[in-house]
Amino acid sequence: MAKSPMMEQYEGIKVKYEDAIVLWRLGDFYEMFNEDAKVASKELELTLTGRDCGEGQRAPMCGVPYHAVDTYISRLVSKGHKVVICEQLEDPASVASGKIVERGVIRIVTPGTLTGGNTPSETENNYLSAVCFAGGEIGCAFCDISTGDLYVTKFSGEGCVDALMNELGTYSPAEVILNISRYENVPLSVFLDERLGAFVSDREDERFDLSKAGKLITATLSKDEGKELAADAVMSRSVGALIDYIHDTQKTDISYIKSLKIYTRGEFLEMDLSTRRNLELCETMRSKEKRGSLLGVLDKTKTSMGARLLRKWVETPLVNAKAIERRLDAVEELASDTMLRGELTEQLRTVLDLERLMGKLVYKSAVTRDLRAIANTLSVVPAIRELLAFSKSSELRRLYDETDDLADICSLVSRAIVDEPPFSVREGGFIREGYNEEVDSLNDIMKGGNAFKEQLEASEKERTGIPKLKIGYNRVFGYYIEVTNLYKDKVPENYIRKQTLVNGERYITQELKEFEAKILGASDRRSALEYQLFCEICDVLTEENNIRRLQNTAASLALIDTYLSLAEVAAQNNYVRPEVDYSDVVSITEGRHPVVERFTTDATFVPNDTLLDTENNRMLLITGPNMAGKSTYMRQTALICVMAQLGSFVPASGARIGICDKIFTRVGASDDLASGQSTFMLEMTEVAYILKNATKRSLIIYDEIGRGTSTYDGMSIAKAVVEYTAGKKLGAKTLFATHYHELTDLEGQIPGVINYNIAAKKKGDGVIFLRKIVRGHADDSYGIEVASLAGVPHEVIRRAKAILSSLEAEAAKPHKSETAEEANITFEDLARDEVIHKLKNTDPNILTPLEALTLLTQLHGML
Ligand code: ADP
Repeated sequence: MAKSPMMEQYEGIKVKYEDAIVLWRLGDFYEMFNEDAKVASKELELTLTGRDCGEGQRAPMCGVPYHAVDTYISRLVSKGHKVVICEQLEDPASVASGKIVERGVIRIVTPGTLTGGNTPSETENNYLSAVCFAGGEIGCAFCDISTGDLYVTKFSGEGCVDALMNELGTYSPAEVILNISRYENVPLSVFLDERLGAFVSDREDERFDLSKAGKLITATLSKDEGKELAADAVMSRSVGALIDYIHDTQKTDISYIKSLKIYTRGEFLEMDLSTRRNLELCETMRSKEKRGSLLGVLDKTKTSMGARLLRKWVETPLVNAKAIERRLDAVEELASDTMLRGELTEQLRTVLDLERLMGKLVYKSAVTRDLRAIANTLSVVPAIRELLAFSKSSELRRLYDETDDLADICSLVSRAIVDEPPFSVREGGFIREGYNEEVDSLNDIMKGGNAFKEQLEASEKERTGIPKLKIGYNRVFGYYIEVTNLYKDKVPENYIRKQTLVNGERYITQELKEFEAKILGASDRRSALEYQLFCEICDVLTEENNIRRLQNTAASLALIDTYLSLAEVAAQNNYVRPEVDYSDVVSITEGRHPVVERFTTDATFVPNDTLLDTENNRMLLITGPNMAGKSTYMRQTALICVMAQLGSFVPASGARIGICDKIFTRVGASDDLASGQSTFMLEMTEVAYILKNATKRSLIIYDEIGRGTSTYDGMSIAKAVVEYTAGKKLGAKTLFATHYHELTDLEGQIPGVINYNIAAKKKGDGVIFLRKIVRGHADDSYGIEVASLAGVPHEVIRRAKAILSSLEAEAAKPHKSETAEEANITFEDLARDEVIHKLKNTDPNILTPLEALTLLTQLHGML
């Protein structure tokens, strides 16, 4: 027996997508075959069956119902698979028997190209990124195809790979395409694979072709944007590759892409990925949850659009005082008006995800309910605008003036579609009465049909004397008259037998046949006509001009929601409006940690002041026992700066924030154990990065540096870092927590270095934390008391005390001072030691040539 024609058709398509799982539409199911079926049955916990595929063979097969396909696609993609969707391209009913339905790929879904119902999170953007290396430059573009957001930037010169990694860290794309092999750059490959965890396609250089990019850009973007972009080759190539990839996967035009935003790094507060993670901006370090992060506290948004925008603001705070003030004005106005907030909140509850609904329309996966959702959302826009009619802040006024309530579109959809349309767009029944004359008259025929059927049933009952006679309908046999066996002999002559049942027979008559033709004709015609009307409405909404209008209104709603959320949080949590300016001062009165204050249950949070500048208060050297609150204090300072710069009120009784250009944190390396570098090496890499990239306008937090090596090494490094950071060359605002009490001698030696400690008091064997930051250094580290608090057995505590006093006696004796060499240890020396260590631990006999090459590149990179 030859291979079945459908399996031949399948294989013809599958060969082109060896790296993906092909979902094959078969009736009401999407099926997967062979290896794909085996993988999918495991990943999706589906039962594996088999299908006759000709030649006496059975192919492993599993399937999912078509209406639930979105969730299955999401699950496959979230597990790192690419999914190809193969659809029936013609109506199976219209295909002659013996022929097979034509099928083709309608979409390829990858982690970075999810749309509509497939996107992993409603409240997060899902970015695809294209990165182009060319000469000494790197172009980097991001697109969220479900909302149409598109951004591009570029980096050049020394440190451009670091800058790229920061940018990727900011956007956290789900998928990255590169024109080079990621292994050409070891730090980048480690970053992509181990830190970012994105789905990476590299060596895609054909997509990055410059002339191809030119054509795609002209076809997709507006003339002005195209022109601006054309002036820059690496940015054009990155955007071109993105468009090309989206074309390939979506198989549809991408007019939905919003206007392009070309930006430079300097427009936002710069933070690297470690800093973002350490500060727990959008998720906690340990559980990766939003709850417990800064965003978790700030997010009281009511819509997914607002939630995404607020997240973006938290990820990318501003550096422009005017822009920050504009946001703060809006927040202040809303924070001070509880009534207005309440009313706006109420209206926003009706607002659905307009951006992604539009995405579904554009990618042709929308159904009638989506149109209804758009209309319902638009229906509240006039009320929302009205509430802003008397606003004073320029930003809220602008939103009032410029928000288009799209009355024409709202009314079109409302007139056309019933309030609660059925799920399917193919079976009709969703066009509202009065919208289309022909639909109305077809509906009349169908309704008349019902009456006719009832009438006929009654008259036949009477004519035949069969009381249980019934007129029914099914898809295979059409209309029929059913008579149970009991009345078989009463069946009249003109009944034609059609089907035999266990306890009865089904018949047709000439009259019934005519009736059927009329009704079915009307029903089919209505379904087709309604579908056509649905498509026409979709076409109107996706006209380029209307897309832009809808996108702008969506953007306004997102903004209103975001301001409202910040205002609500400010009012509820007793925040104040920060003063922001271009001074070098960070001055906070009674500052609190926005997250810790919400989660301290046993005691109230103790507020603390902060004063940093680039003169006498350049570096606060903070000592104090473990658990005293040093990290909390330092992070709270950084978080207050982040909050102020993103346009939020801050947890303090007063704050003046001189805008920072970058924030760096160097905190315990626990989250990076997976990256395989030694902790100390990693710590030094981060320190090196900070020292190379910080400026006078930056804020740096060092939490215990030098811990990963021997005491003298560690202290020498810590001291050198203090000197350099606080010194003339850099002079950045710095908070430095340390357990090296020796460093406190630097106050008075280096201008700008000041000692602080977080007060604690001994009490018996224990210690009381006062949580108050005070001038001067801590006179004791209370290590043993903290150990006792933590429940270390008494015997061990007593022994520790004995050891401590003998050590203290020993230390009181005069000893050799450290040698010049020890003090002058450089970072190069450290790196060299690390390289030698690595080489010593390598056995050249067991390395493959490729491993040897990778190692060589790594060592070179370390040096
Ligand atoms: P350290 O860095 O000095 O070891 P942490 O900053 O980790 O200490 O603080 C330890 C704990 O103390 C925190 O988890 C928090 O619950 C509590 N804490 C810190 N600062 C305060 C404060 N100002 N008010 C109340 N509790 C605080």
